[in-house]
Amino acid sequence: MKNDYVCPFCRGHLKVKNSVIFSARKPGGERGLLLLSPEIGNYAVRKHRTFELNDGEKTDLYCPICHANLMAQNYNNNLARIISIDEYGEENVILISEIVGERCTYVIHGKKVEKYGDDATNYFGAGTEF
Ligand SMILES: [Zn+2]
Repeated sequence: MKNDYVCPFCRGHLKVKNSVIFSARKPGGERGLLLLSPEIGNYAVRKHRTFELNDGEKTDLYCPICHANLMAQNYNNNLARIISIDEYGEENVILISEIVGERCTYVIHGKKVEKYGDDATNYFGAGTEF
């Protein structure tokens, strides 16, 4: 799947080559760039070695283009929201965890939630609808 990912605020493209790029802020205020996989369910994170992340810590994710805070307030404050666009131009909301080490991703299709990752039940139980 060759999805594109855009910021819900500025619609700037967050995917460059094989990474989806975020600006991140740690609880102490330190900032750095995170490169995530565009493949849903792949939780590999690339970053500079000096930007250390600790499991369980909440990082705030920002759009690297317009600097909007991507926190998905309408769903859960531990999740960040971006938009995916598939090859047919169909758009879906994607929610990813801002908690370091937590493996969950959600794809919102209208009222249905597709859940991915070992920790997927942390936010949406079976059959959750909005
Ligand atoms: Zn933006």
